[in-house]
Amino acid sequence: MRVSVFGLGYVGCVSAACLAGKGHEVIGVDVNQVKVDLVNDGKAPVVEERIGELVGEVVGSGALRATRDVREAIMGSDISLVCVGTPSEPNGSLCTTYLERVTEEIGAALADRAGRGGRHTVVFRSTMLPGTCANLLIPILEKYVGGTAGVDFGVAVNPEFLREGTSVRDFFDPPKTVVGELDPASGDAVLGLYEGLPGEVFRVPVATAEAIKYADNAFHGLKIGFANELGAVCRALGVDSHQVMDVFLADRKLNISPAYLRPGFAFGGSCLPKDLRSLVHAAQRADVSVPLLSHVLPSNSAHLERAVELVERAGKRRVGLFGLSFKPGTDDLRESPLVELAERLFGKGYDLRIHDANVSLSRLLGANREYVETRLPHLAQLLADSVDEVLDHAEVCLVGTRDPAVLSALPHGGDPLLIDLVRLPDADTRRAEPGYVGLAW
Ligand code: NAD
Repeated sequence: MRVSVFGLGYVGCVSAACLAGKGHEVIGVDVNQVKVDLVNDGKAPVVEERIGELVGEVVGSGALRATRDVREAIMGSDISLVCVGTPSEPNGSLCTTYLERVTEEIGAALADRAGRGGRHTVVFRSTMLPGTCANLLIPILEKYVGGTAGVDFGVAVNPEFLREGTSVRDFFDPPKTVVGELDPASGDAVLGLYEGLPGEVFRVPVATAEAIKYADNAFHGLKIGFANELGAVCRALGVDSHQVMDVFLADRKLNISPAYLRPGFAFGGSCLPKDLRSLVHAAQRADVSVPLLSHVLPSNSAHLERAVELVERAGKRRVGLFGLSFKPGTDDLRESPLVELAERLFGKGYDLRIHDANVSLSRLLGANREYVETRLPHLAQLLADSVDEVLDHAEVCLVGTRDPAVLSALPHGGDPLLIDLVRLPDADTRRAEPGYVGLAW
């Protein structure tokens, strides 16, 4: 199929490269010239396992190219995937500005395309609250195209369930495929993209597909909060929380998946916090009381506070931090709990040095340079490109990554003191050593 992908961020770049790798002819569209240039040079604008090689391959073979020209993309494709961001507004509500803008642009280009080629289908992959497609986006498309959705052009919602860090692997082995279809032909068009991939397929109404994504993300946040609270109580009572969870999770009769249930550090990223926020905001506006959901984010903040307390208790001023992105395997810094931790420590006057290989690589490529320089200038100056620079500086080191290069360099014996945020693979040995404390015992 000939596919346009709007937005070459974490979701769009992976979708575009993987669809091209599956044999489709893909044009990526982004308003950001740096991302467009990176893709056309065969480089990924995000750091992820396997994405760099894959983009190189599919751009080299001609299966993927990028442009800023919406019209060119729509003219040359049968289906469009919309993967633009939907961040939180300051009050917690969902920001739909990028969605509205790109939908207007697609609608205008579709009007020009009318009569040429077959029916085009617009597929929304961005996370959006139930009702957004029907009440906000379809009216925009119908206004610009001058036709009827589901008749003159197709519309579907196809939420994204990939996890940053393993998203290429997840694309080819998805946990499930959900297609919210306005009409059967729209759903068929979406499923044509994924033909041959494993996993169960669910064809549902558009608003159901929108809601499923929120169910997933709210539950993931809840699981992490549950595991971390339990881990904190276990630590206070001198119990190994991972041993507790090993047994808890072995109980398959209750059908428990172990994902997100290992005590570790606080969650973050561009999805769970903002999706929980907008879900709670939407519930409040609808006068629905959601005490459980509205306490997931405060639980997460309390966990972050525990890490700050461990540093304070160590009583040292020179602090090292390994890891800065919101989780290992990505360079994504949005709502990273490690960024928040670094900011808390920086604000308290600690003399901090930070190392994260993916963030350094992304700065070198230029992909996240603007984000770091405009949003985190206070941390940019603390970034060290080498592990040793941080170890040489620090009296106490926080380990928030499982990067093998960091793990192999970490000393034993207490100089510097280690605060393990991620439960290091050799945590059991280290627990017996001086100068080691784990947040997730
Ligand atoms: P992102 O911010 O990394 O990427 C969005 C991209 O869209 C940016 O490159 C931006 O320049 C581009 N863009 C904005 N307006 C545009 C326009 N008019 N035309 C073309 N491009 C435009 O966002 P992301 O992390 O990829 O997330 C995208 C959506 O997918 C969000 O709704 C998010 O909630 C959802 N989602 C994200 C993940 C994840 O792991 N990151 C997972 C599942 C779902």
